[in-house]
Amino acid sequence: MTTRAIVMTGAVAIALIVSPLKAQQRATQPSKFTRAPMTQPPPSGEVEVLPVRGNVYAIFGAGANIVVSVGNDGVLIVDAGRAEMSEKVLAAIQRLQREWALRNEPRSGGFGAETRSSVAERHITAPPKPIRYILNTSADPDHVGGNEKLRKAGHTFTGGNVAGNIADATEGAAILAHENVLTRLSRGGEGQSAVPADALPTDAYFVDFYKLSHYFNGEGIQLFHVPKAHTDGDSIVHFRGTDVIALGDLMLSGSYPVIDVAKGGTINGVLDGLNRVLDMSIAEFRLEGGTLMVPGHGRLVDSADVAYYRDMLTIIRDRVEDQIKKGRTLEQVKAANPSGDYDTEYGSTTGPWTTANFIEAVYKTLGGGGRPKPDTTGGKAPAPARRK
Ligand SMILES: [Zn+2]
Repeated sequence: MTTRAIVMTGAVAIALIVSPLKAQQRATQPSKFTRAPMTQPPPSGEVEVLPVRGNVYAIFGAGANIVVSVGNDGVLIVDAGRAEMSEKVLAAIQRLQREWALRNEPRSGGFGAETRSSVAERHITAPPKPIRYILNTSADPDHVGGNEKLRKAGHTFTGGNVAGNIADATEGAAILAHENVLTRLSRGGEGQSAVPADALPTDAYFVDFYKLSHYFNGEGIQLFHVPKAHTDGDSIVHFRGTDVIALGDLMLSGSYPVIDVAKGGTINGVLDGLNRVLDMSIAEFRLEGGTLMVPGHGRLVDSADVAYYRDMLTIIRDRVEDQIKKGRTLEQVKAANPSGDYDTEYGSTTGPWTTANFIEAVYKTLGGGGRPKPDTTGGKAPAPARRK
């Protein structure tokens, strides 16, 4: 975040001054797996695991980013990646579980000769705990593609140790999502076919939020619906103890948000969602650190990144809205280049989601292209966009 922080306002400039100090402190402390932003995506076809905080990890490279909670209660994952990556995701989860079991095994201390201790070996081969929950932040194939295989792995993971996990042994992991995700996945439509029954959410919520009824791996976990943002069925997931939020595609760290208009996405829904995330998050110092967020795609972010992203989108939204009020057509708005100063960082002229796609989605969801409204500015130049 430091390069972009250069163009930011006073508060973050101060954070820049203190960051060499923090870097110095980090250099003198042993790595504690507390924080490690990813800067490079893993090579295509490979997954990369990053410790986020405590027993919460992120898996990159399997489609959408996957957030994993590993611990005594088993495994909970947010999003499942693409179907063809499931084997690699499973292998990565199993490695995490074994590492976790090793780190958390209390030392017996009863061995006369330490070199003969078999504690490590026993736990390396112990059957990993099952995947108990899969939470889907949207119905996109790169988020739900792995549902079926990973859900069934919730069954096979129990191995010979099914006592107390009988429900899992017969049903596999529970899949939770907003009901619009369930509807979309079961019916198909909007360029997406219906998915097999085993890949469907087993539980759906339709109110503002949903919470797991008990602590899972030592913390409360809550899903919040963010209406009409990337789609109409988006959830963000808050790990309340480790203070990590999985953002789904509400935010993409390296590009403009994909506003899927056909599935009910809107620019104002994205902004409302980001503001909600900022309300939920608490920085460690100034705007840095503290609550850590895992976007649907891209690197780990913190409050400063989310605030910058929110401000950037607010400015672009206001510019487009201003043009719409003047009755400008989509082509005229595009020609006015309302995102010009951000395109180097977030824009794209190729691929499935270009800057032109983004501007079109903003324009449409603000009511552009409807009945032209009269120009009430009297032909004056547009006011400069608000900076916050
Ligand atoms: Zn995505």
